[in-house]
Amino acid sequence: MAESLLHVFRRLIRATGPISVAHFMAESNARYYGSRDPFGTAGDFITAPEISQMFGEMIGLSLADQWIRAGRPARIAWVEPGPGRGTLAADALRAAARHGLVPEVHFIETSPTLRGAQRARFPQATWHDDFASVPDDLPLLVVGNEFLDALPVRQLVRMAEGWRERMVGWQATGAADTEGHLLPVAGDRPMDAAIPPGRAGAAEGTIIETCPAAAAVTAEVAARLARQGGAALWIDYGHDTPRDGSTLQAVRAHAKVDPFAAPGEADLTALVDFAALVPVAQEAGARVDGVLGQGTFLKRLGIEARAAMLARHAPAQADTVARALARLTDPEQMGSLFKVMGFTAPQWPRNGAFD
Ligand code: SAH
Repeated sequence: MAESLLHVFRRLIRATGPISVAHFMAESNARYYGSRDPFGTAGDFITAPEISQMFGEMIGLSLADQWIRAGRPARIAWVEPGPGRGTLAADALRAAARHGLVPEVHFIETSPTLRGAQRARFPQATWHDDFASVPDDLPLLVVGNEFLDALPVRQLVRMAEGWRERMVGWQATGAADTEGHLLPVAGDRPMDAAIPPGRAGAAEGTIIETCPAAAAVTAEVAARLARQGGAALWIDYGHDTPRDGSTLQAVRAHAKVDPFAAPGEADLTALVDFAALVPVAQEAGARVDGVLGQGTFLKRLGIEARAAMLARHAPAQADTVARALARLTDPEQMGSLFKVMGFTAPQWPRNGAFD
């Protein structure tokens, strides 16, 4: 068995000092996703496509509609970063195929375990480590569900002496090497230059969180859409107005746990700042069709009619379907905390769900 990540971090921090929250989150999630299938009731968390086939079907129909209005380009690629078990792609592409849309399948996935699960469903897919190797000669339909929230965030904290990067240090609590725990600490180096003008005077203790990796991948997708054509949907737990504070959280066995307690053993996520990603996509050349709550987005695409049809065809499943519909769309459940950002090549028609 691999050495626990807690031990690796402890050794590293004792030898060279605290590591950044971003480094901590990136290494923790690489270990976490690389070593297991985290989904389902027996796992750590459940995502929208694992709740019901209706979720993927609505996404597939929405992109098929855009593709039809774009003139049905014959060659087109489905590109999905972080596809998990491949469930969303399976449901979306089954629905899309009924309308004649049968794209090439490209998955961007770093976890060998999850690549295996995806291969079982899509033996003909192509896998990539990142967007760089995705083909550049055809339009792209890009869908990421709960992908951005797994990317490392950078945190800056306002101390009495000025802004510092938020780091992860080791607090010894006894004589033995293993006695102690990881905890957030302020870095030594002044970070005032990294703070946007206007925020420099924020109160002591203020944390500003950014996700450079989410901005980078959004810019890359937007630039590809502008050059190649196509459309993208980012779906994630997040907010569409800027806010302060750390949103780093850890989930294990369907419960929130201390993000610093057992790195690599719990899923680390941060809220996605859609307000920051909209201008990034626009500046890189895409048109942002909108940002909507997941509930509104799915209802505009007809998820209620789809639920009624599924219940009619399988009355024994009617309760399950109704519960799944509520879970995906109710504002108290996933309906408003989860957001959908649609961005499209400027030469393509808009995603109709945002009109
Ligand atoms: N979209 C799926 C899975 C979400 S979990 C669903 O909705 O069920 C996050 C996914 O992103 C996992 O497949 C994980 O292995 C992958 N992932 C995490 N960090 C990644 C990275 N840096 N590059 C590519 N994939 C990543």
